[in-house]
This record gives sequence, C-alpha cells and structure tokens, in this order.
Amino acid sequence: MASRSLSASRRGGVRSIVVDQKRELDTHSRAIALFPRTLEIFRSLGVVEDLIVSGEQSSHLRLRRASDRKTLIDFDFGTYDPITQCNYLLAIPQNRTERVLFEHAQRNDRIEPAYGMLVRSIRGR
Ligand SMILES: Cc1cc2nc3c(=O)[nH]c(=O)nc-3n(C[C@H](O)[C@H](O)[C@H](O)COP(=O)(O)OP(=O)(O)OC[C@H]3O[C@@H](n4cnc5c(N)ncnc54)[C@H](O)[C@@H]3O)c2cc1C
Repeated sequence: MASRSLSASRRGGVRSIVVDQKRELDTHSRAIALFPRTLEIFRSLGVVEDLIVSGEQSSHLRLRRASDRKTLIDFDFGTYDPITQCNYLLAIPQNRTERVLFEHAQRNDRIEPAYGMLVRSIRGR
C-alpha cells in the first residue's frame, strides 16, 4: 500500500493516506525476495537504492525440492540484461522492505501513514 502512495505522490503530487488495520509494522518476514519488475517499480519511485543496501543481490535463482533435490526452477537473471537495469533478484525479508517503504512515506509530506485503522466501506460521492 505504501508503494502505491509513493507512486501517486511522485506522479501527480496527489496527497495520500496509507490505511492499514495493523497497528505496527511487521516484525517477521512473510516473503524472502523482490523480483525484477517490482525492483523496476521501486527504482522509478527512488526507493531501490535503500532496499539494495538492506538486502542481497543475486543473479541466479535455483529452487530444489527438499525430498530428492530435484531442480524445480533454475533461472539466470542475466537473460534480462538487454531489457532492464534490474537484472537480479534481491533477497530481502518482507518486514525490512516494509520498513524501507514506510520510512520513505514518512519523509514525504504528501503521504500520511494511518496504522490501526480499519476500512469498513468505501462510498462514491
Ligand atoms: C507465504 C508467502 C510468501 C511470499 N513470498 C513472496 C516473495 O518472496 N516475493 C514476492 O514478491 N512476493 C511474495 N509473496 C506474495 C506477496 O506477499 C504478495 O503478492 C504481496 O504481499 C501483495 O501485496 P498487497 O499490498 O497487495 O497485500 P498485502 O501485503 O497482503 O497487504 C494488504 C494490507 O491491507 C491490510 N488490510 C486488509 N484489509 C484491511 C481493511 N479492511 N482495513 C485496513 N487495512 C486492511 C492488511 O492488514 C495488510 O497489511 C508471498 C506470499 C506468501 C503468502
């Protein structure tokens, strides 16, 4: 949600409120990596450098099944070289990603984080 507000604010100076029912940022990770398209979007928002220093870049992704070590995914992000600067996977715990986005939102006076608020309905005017 914070990334969408960063995007709107950057594009058109739109003021945004980031509403989330949770009262605080996650302290545990529910995801392990950011992929090239997400990184491209974060680059356009000016956030990617802060994420890179908080994570670890990898040019290769290989997933194996635990039971028999069979390779399920074997992907070289170098194949993206001609089409993107974000030709890598960034290993970063989701709670760290969330904190970096939150801190960027806090530094932007057009974005107001509102944690601990539940959206019950949305009505048109
Ligand atoms: C086990 C698992 C591992 C994953 N690993 C990866 C990974 O490594 N890399 C990757 O790119 N993706 C991963 N994903 C997918 C990724 O987590 C989701 O695609 C991403 O979180 C979706 O973002 P979102 O902002 O749309 O939703 P969410 O991250 O789910 O955020 C929605 C937010 O809205 C809030 N909310 C919901 N209802 C209300 C309401 N009524 N009022 C106020 N607030 C509300 C919730 O509290 C929540 O914080 C993984 C997903 C799972 C389940």
